[in-house]
Amino acid sequence: MKCQECDATLNIPDDASVGEIISCSDCGADFEIAKKNGSVVELKQAETVGEDWGE
Ligand SMILES: [Zn+2]
Repeated sequence: MKCQECDATLNIPDDASVGEIISCSDCGADFEIAKKNGSVVELKQAETVGEDWGE
């Protein structure tokens, strides 16, 4: 699994479950596990807390 931000390899534990947050150790981006099917994991970008996106 690769970070969608910086392309670094993300380490996702085998026992990680849907809804868990994976943080990229390189750029600090947070990803949430959206789907997990065996070894196939689908990530979505976690909503960043504390950042103001405005309206
Ligand atoms: Zn990254």
